[in-house]
Amino acid sequence: MRNRSFVRTGFFYAWIVIAGLAFAAGCAPGKERADTILMNGKIITVDKDFSIAEAVAIRNGRFIAVGKNDEILAFAGDSTNTIDLKGRTVVPGLIEGHAHPLSASQSEYPDPIPHITNIKELMDWIAQQARTRKKGEWIVHPKFFITRLSDMRQLSKKELDSVAPDHPVFLNGSYAGMANSKAIAVSGLDKADHPGIDRSKPGGAPTGIVRRSAFGLLAIPKPAPLSDQEKTKMMMQMFGLYNSVGITSVCVGGGDGQQLEMYKKMNADGQLTVRVFQNIYFPKVPVQEMLDSLKLKEYKTGDGDDWVRVGALKVVVDGGVLTGTAYLNEGWGEKAQRLYGLPDPLYRGELFFSQKELETLISAAQQAGWKFTAHVTGGGGVDTLLAAFAATDRLAPVKQNRFSIIHGNFFSEEAVRKMAAMGIYADMQPDWFYKDGSALLQVLGKERLNAFHPYRSLWDAGVVVGGGSDHMAKLDPDLSINPYNPFLSIWSVVARKTENGISLYPEQALSRKEALQMYTINNAYASFEENGKGSIEPGKLADLAVLSDDLLLCPEDDIRKIKVLLTMVDGRVVYENNQL
Ligand SMILES: [Zn+2]
Repeated sequence: MRNRSFVRTGFFYAWIVIAGLAFAAGCAPGKERADTILMNGKIITVDKDFSIAEAVAIRNGRFIAVGKNDEILAFAGDSTNTIDLKGRTVVPGLIEGHAHPLSASQSEYPDPIPHITNIKELMDWIAQQARTRKKGEWIVHPKFFITRLSDMRQLSKKELDSVAPDHPVFLNGSYAGMANSKAIAVSGLDKADHPGIDRSKPGGAPTGIVRRSAFGLLAIPKPAPLSDQEKTKMMMQMFGLYNSVGITSVCVGGGDGQQLEMYKKMNADGQLTVRVFQNIYFPKVPVQEMLDSLKLKEYKTGDGDDWVRVGALKVVVDGGVLTGTAYLNEGWGEKAQRLYGLPDPLYRGELFFSQKELETLISAAQQAGWKFTAHVTGGGGVDTLLAAFAATDRLAPVKQNRFSIIHGNFFSEEAVRKMAAMGIYADMQPDWFYKDGSALLQVLGKERLNAFHPYRSLWDAGVVVGGGSDHMAKLDPDLSINPYNPFLSIWSVVARKTENGISLYPEQALSRKEALQMYTINNAYASFEENGKGSIEPGKLADLAVLSDDLLLCPEDDIRKIKVLLTMVDGRVVYENNQL
C-alpha cells in the first residue's frame, strides 16, 4: 500500500513538473486558453509591489495570468481575442468610492441643470426661466452651492425677487437653500415656527435661508414619477458615462431597499456595466424606530454577489461645508456671514445626532453584522462620531467592521490617531478640496485649514484612505456636481491645488501611486472585496481601463487631461473611443 501510494504521488509530481516545463516552453495547459489577451502595454497592476506588467490574459471574466508578452501569449488559443495596447498604460478598473448615480441619472430630466459660475449667470438663468414659465410656477435649482461661485458671497432674497417677483424660487444646496419672497409666501414660511427657517431676528421675517430640516415645508410640487423602464434607461446611460472615465465599480453613497432591488434587477437582466456596493441610508427618526427598522432588514453588509452587494448602514450626522452647516469645533466666524449668510459668528453648524444616539446605533449595527458609516463634514462632527466609535470599540473591537467616515474633511491629529487605532476608513472626496478649498480659506483662514483633507497625515498614520466624488447631479464627468472624473480628483490629490490654483498645505499631497490606490485597492478594501478586485492579479475580476497617457510619468498637469480609451468590466469591453 505504501509503495503504491508513493508511486501515485510520484506520478502526480512528475505531471506537475512536465506541466511546468511545458508552460516555461510557451505552451500553456489546454484548459487555460484565454478569452482575451491584452499585450504590449504598461500595466500598472497595483499589486503589493506595485509591479508593472506587459500583458494580461483573461478567461471567464477573471485575470488568469499577468506578466511579460511571451509568457502571456502562451495562453492564446484559436478563439482568443488579442488586443494590442501599443504601449498604452492600463490601470485596474477604477472604483468610485462615493456617488449617488440614481439621483444623478435623473437630475437633468426633463431640463438640463445650467453650469453657473457667478451670480450674474445665476440671475440671467432665473430671469430666463421666469420668462418661459407661467406666473406662480416654481423655479428650482436642484443643486446649488454658493461656494462654487466666483463672487464668494451669499445672495439676498431681494436679489432673487428682482428677477422673479412672480415666481417662487428655491436654490437647493442639499443642507441649506435660498428662497425668494414668493417661495416664502406660498410655503407659509413666514407664519411657520421652525428652527430651520432663518430669521433676521427672533420672530422677525425669514431671510430666505432655509435649512435642510425645514425643506419639507417648501410647497414645491413633486415631479411626475418615472416608470421603472425610464429609470433603468437613465441609470444605464449614467453607468455608461462612468465607464467612459474608467469607473467599473461604485459605492453608492446612500439609498433604500428599492434602489437595491433596481440594481439587482438590472444585474439579472444583464444591464449592469458598473458593479455596485450600495450603502443603506437610515433617515433620522427617533433612535428606537431606527433600531426597530434595523431588526426588520432581511439583508446586511456584504450580502449579494460580485455585481451588487449591500454596503454599509449610513446616517447623516451633520450639515455640509458648501452651506456653512458642517458641525465645526469652533464657530464659523465673522467671515461666514458674507459667504453663507450666517449672522452669528459662534454658530458651529448642525449636528443631527448626539454621541449617545450614535453609540446606540453603532453598537446595534455591529451586532447585526453591518458596517456603519456616516456623513460627517466638520471637525466637531468627526470628533462626536469618533467618540461614539470608541465607546463601541471598548465593548467589542470595531477593527474588523471597517467602519468609515464619509467626507470628514477636517481631521485633527488626535482624530487621525483614533482612526488608525480603530481601523476607521476615510471615505474622502478630493472634489471638496478642489472645488471648495478656496472659499473655505476665505471664511476660515489658513490656520483652521491645516486639518482640511490631510491625506498625508492620514496615510502615514496607517488610515486606509479611499477616493470618491459624491457625484449627485448633472451628467458630464467634469461639469457635474460633483465632478466624477477620477483623473481630475487624482490630479488634485497629487498637485494639492484648488480649482483656482491655490496650493494649500502642499505637504499633505499624496504620490501618484498612492492616489491611484485610493481609487482602486483601497476602495475595494472598503467593501471587503480587496481579494477579488482593486488590482490586476491572477484570480481577480477582469476590470480595467486603458489610458491615453502614462499616469505615473506624464507631466503633473496632464494627469487631469487623461482620457480613457477602453474600459473592460468582467472581461467585457463596456466602453471604447476607437483611439487605441
Ligand atoms: Zn453623498
